[in-house]
Amino acid sequence: MPSPLKPGATIGILGGGQLARMLALAAAPLGLRCHVYTPEKDSCALDVVHADTIGDYEDEAALARFAEAVDVVTYEFENVPAKTAAYLSKRRPVLPDPKVLETTQDRLIEKNFISALKIATAPYAPVHSATQLADGLAKVGVPAVLKTRTLGYDGKGQEKIAASSEGLPAWRRLKQVPCILEGFVNFQREVSVIAARSADGHVECFEVTENEHREHILHISRVPAKVTPALEAEARRVATRIVTAFDYVGVMGIEMFVVKRGREHHVLVNEVAPRVHNSGHWTIDGATVSQFEQHIRAVAGLPLAKPKRLGAKVEMRNLIGDEILSAGDYLTQPNTAVHIYGKGKPSPRRKMGHVTRVWPGK
Ligand code: AMP
Repeated sequence: MPSPLKPGATIGILGGGQLARMLALAAAPLGLRCHVYTPEKDSCALDVVHADTIGDYEDEAALARFAEAVDVVTYEFENVPAKTAAYLSKRRPVLPDPKVLETTQDRLIEKNFISALKIATAPYAPVHSATQLADGLAKVGVPAVLKTRTLGYDGKGQEKIAASSEGLPAWRRLKQVPCILEGFVNFQREVSVIAARSADGHVECFEVTENEHREHILHISRVPAKVTPALEAEARRVATRIVTAFDYVGVMGIEMFVVKRGREHHVLVNEVAPRVHNSGHWTIDGATVSQFEQHIRAVAGLPLAKPKRLGAKVEMRNLIGDEILSAGDYLTQPNTAVHIYGKGKPSPRRKMGHVTRVWPGK
């Protein structure tokens, strides 16, 4: 196991968005510096980092300079090109291990991985041909959701199918790229677990978070989630099994559906994100340690903290698009923290900031 980073050491982060920005802000109190690698000069993380390298992910000379300047490399997004990760791995430790990316960049491989752990998911089938689409619809039934295997997020690359006859037109709208067909889950609620794992195998999960989406984008996260202690324990167990199976180092976001079977509630895993996750932003102001600090601790080889919620309940609300223009209104609200990401122009579905309210009490 590599020795822990010492104050003054530098963590390299691939990607320069708000997640990198919040990682860098969490690294500073531990005496660690961050160096962001991004193709975009106007990345919002650049306001708060020690150094940056601006380059394409294929630019080997820029990647080599970056590797030279950092002690360890991590990333804020899951679509890091495999070649970039492999190139950097030869020069510096890359955490979480890039082999995780091969699984999580492809919804089908990811679902197969989770199913092999005997963890429940929605019923699913691969779709690479019209015949497979028909077979898949017969297997999972309707309603169903057709998703591109790669590069989908915030509802992009997804089509809902209400009747079998809608299958082919939906696949055509997705340009007939390789897809996964999933049975539509009639869930009671959506939750997530943010799990951190250190290189020695220790796992710490944050409390189960309840998530409300608007137009497929996370709108509000709430803790505590309205779940029973048994479901809370099941969700944490599932998350722990997943990060352990990946031999993961860092923070992972695991999204789940809560479904009712008979009188009991269970979780189905929807997807996993090999990075800090939007549904964990509440932990900055609402917990004894944030998901960002846990991630930095894990990749720096430092011990993980035991997370505990502060307050009776916590609510995180995303400020999407023009909602950022009213961020100032929250400054005078009690027990409310305002986070403005410092991005340029608000566009309709762009995450521009968030606010977190912590209700005092136990
Ligand atoms: P995803 O990109 O897979 O996270 O999906 C985005 C959102 O679409 C989820 O948070 C759910 O609200 C919804 N969704 C995705 N897959 C399903 C499914 N199989 N059944 C019901 N809703 C789904």
